[in-house]
Amino acid sequence: MHNKTIAEISAGLKAGKFSSEELTQDLLARIDRIDGKLNSFVTVTAEQAQAAARAADERIKANKATPLTGVPIAHKDIFCTEGVKTSCGSKMLDNFIAPYNATVVERMHAAGAVMLGKTNMDEFAMGSSNETSFYGAVKNPWDLERVPGGSSGGSAAAIAARLVPGATGTDTGGSIRQPAALCGVTGLKPTYGRVSRYGMIAFASSLDQGGPFARTAEDCALLLNAMSGFDGRDSTSIDKPVPDYTATLKDSIAGLKIGLPKEYFSEGLDAGMAQAVEQAIDVYKSMGCEIKEISLPNTHLSVPAYYVVAPAECSSNLSRFDGVRYGYRCENPSDLTDLYERSRGEGFGSEVKRRIMIGTYALSAGYYDAYYLKAQQIRRLISDDFTQAFADVDVIMGPTSPTTAFKLGEKTDDPVSMYLSDIYTIAANLAGLPGMSIPAGFSNGLPVGLQLIGNYFDEGGLLAAAHQYQQQTDWHTHTPQGFA
Ligand code: GLN
Repeated sequence: MHNKTIAEISAGLKAGKFSSEELTQDLLARIDRIDGKLNSFVTVTAEQAQAAARAADERIKANKATPLTGVPIAHKDIFCTEGVKTSCGSKMLDNFIAPYNATVVERMHAAGAVMLGKTNMDEFAMGSSNETSFYGAVKNPWDLERVPGGSSGGSAAAIAARLVPGATGTDTGGSIRQPAALCGVTGLKPTYGRVSRYGMIAFASSLDQGGPFARTAEDCALLLNAMSGFDGRDSTSIDKPVPDYTATLKDSIAGLKIGLPKEYFSEGLDAGMAQAVEQAIDVYKSMGCEIKEISLPNTHLSVPAYYVVAPAECSSNLSRFDGVRYGYRCENPSDLTDLYERSRGEGFGSEVKRRIMIGTYALSAGYYDAYYLKAQQIRRLISDDFTQAFADVDVIMGPTSPTTAFKLGEKTDDPVSMYLSDIYTIAANLAGLPGMSIPAGFSNGLPVGLQLIGNYFDEGGLLAAAHQYQQQTDWHTHTPQGFA
């Protein structure tokens, strides 16, 4: 049962082949049996899940089901879940029971999806390997000595290991696409503003965007249908109708113009990866797509600009964790300053502290113009590169990540090399564009991700291109050994 996709589950539930309760129990037992090896869940909400599954079965019987009714899913532990611990991977929020649901969570509940639990993540979504989590690293199911990517590594690993068919993630600089690539699953970062950020714990508000993970593009379309849409409680949410993303999956892609940025195929790219990506492009050629080399000349500036903008915004967003209102508070503070200093000093991990310090520095008087303003100007140049590119092409493709999954511990002492893991993903966040990663083969036995970047609000186009590739290839069906 655990090998079914969301579309298959949805059809099976509707046809009465199995119940949501049976399926939920099966997956909960599987999580119980297997997740000790992976550490992909921070919290498993077994009782709540069983109750939700029973309610879903009733709803299906009453003919009031949506395509997600009774479908088990998991939420990244960055989304507030009413009455359930919402840790954001941090000691700071280890004792935090959210008093309300994030809009994404609320919409998934309303659709009848059954939440099995909350997935592990890098602390406050800062990281590319899941190693900054207070709850310990997540292991990659393809090789337990390797990282699953980050920051949404728990969601990606849980799907790859068939513990759950779909999950949510967030992507500030690549945190949906890069773990999807490293774990061999499908992930989509929507256009900035497409999915509400209300109740999604803020890291860098001008970049953060929630989105779905699943095994297939079709399943991502089903999840995105439920997640998207205007929300008056998020001032950056965009009031634009949500199309049915499943309706356009089969739209012809013959004649689709695909741009390959030459900067995405430069030295840093691993040879096995490059080969897999080129083969994927050949599949698109055989489907009648036109391939064109393009240039995104400011690509090399995206990581430096991001590491000014994101820390600056995080230093501001994380100032609310002060030991006073909620979250971690130090023992026996001697005065107010001691309370602030020790609560933050003890509650945050070292990567989060590094970012807060960089951000505070970049925003301080005298440095603002030199760093923050400069980074914002570069952001505009990067965004203009894409505008120009999309005048000639419909979709941009390339590798999602420069390497396959690296070893646990390999980059923890070298933050810059860790930051470079997102060299191909960050630009889409700076520009606010939608992006996807889909499984496109293997290099030395480890999954390779193909990245698709689309124009604003062209999630439908990306999903169609991804879906049709998945009709021609079977990379997305491969299961890591020991998790079949
Ligand atoms: N790896 C990047 C970072 O550490 C991106 C993280 C994310 O997208 N949340 O900031």
